[in-house]
Amino acid sequence: MLKLSNVKTYYGNIQALKGVSLDIAEGEIITLIGANGAGKTTTLMSISGIVPPRTGEIRFMGEPIHAVTPDEIVQRGICQVPEGRRIFPYLTVAENLDMGAFLRNDKTGIKADMEHIFELFPILAQRRYQAGGTLSGGEQQMLAISRALMARPRLLLLDEPSLGLAPLVIRQIFDIIRKINQEQNTTIFLVEQNANLALQIAHRGYVMENGRITLTDNAAALLTNAEVKKAYLGI
Ligand code: ATP
Repeated sequence: MLKLSNVKTYYGNIQALKGVSLDIAEGEIITLIGANGAGKTTTLMSISGIVPPRTGEIRFMGEPIHAVTPDEIVQRGICQVPEGRRIFPYLTVAENLDMGAFLRNDKTGIKADMEHIFELFPILAQRRYQAGGTLSGGEQQMLAISRALMARPRLLLLDEPSLGLAPLVIRQIFDIIRKINQEQNTTIFLVEQNANLALQIAHRGYVMENGRITLTDNAAALLTNAEVKKAYLGI
């Protein structure tokens, strides 16, 4: 579904990605783990077109997207939930969800999707007329994911969904991610510092160090890999 080949991405003179290659098949949950500054967020930004690669190739559904604008990439079916959530604090929950559908004009479809999201996240239904900024951190993360779902993505990019949340809330969010993958048939690319949890829900994983992929395997194998255990699982 998605294939990165030798992607090199820069911020001015700083090279953040030094030739990243990876692939994601339809229906998978793939996690990208690595230390602070390894290049995980930059990988997502390169895919979503916000920080396009200088060289290399990114293909989605067989088509090159590395030179396509971010809004066109959303339209093709890739949606990113940024780190730190970035919901609209002064808009209500329902208005935030509407913003996620800004590239769509099928009113009945949008309404149906919103109702479906309220089934998936009952807490958001209860708070639909409340300003986004008044929600708890976990609820804001649920809203950020839901807003992305309103674009009906085929591939959902999640950047550190567990960041700053309590363990119980993190479990809820991860359960929902699994549900979105299974029930909505949405492919998921999950960037996480919480490698332990990410590998528990992922099918496969990639390990990134200094702008390069250094290891890839099935999630179960990575969980028992001695290097991964030492560097990322704190064991
Ligand atoms: P984190 O978990 O801290 O978000 P990360 O693995 O997502 O880390 P990136 O944010 O992708 O890492 O950063 C990769 C490299 O690019 C780092 O060396 C970082 O300092 C650098 N970098 C990131 N954003 C910028 C920017 N806007 N300008 C300059 N350098 C940047």
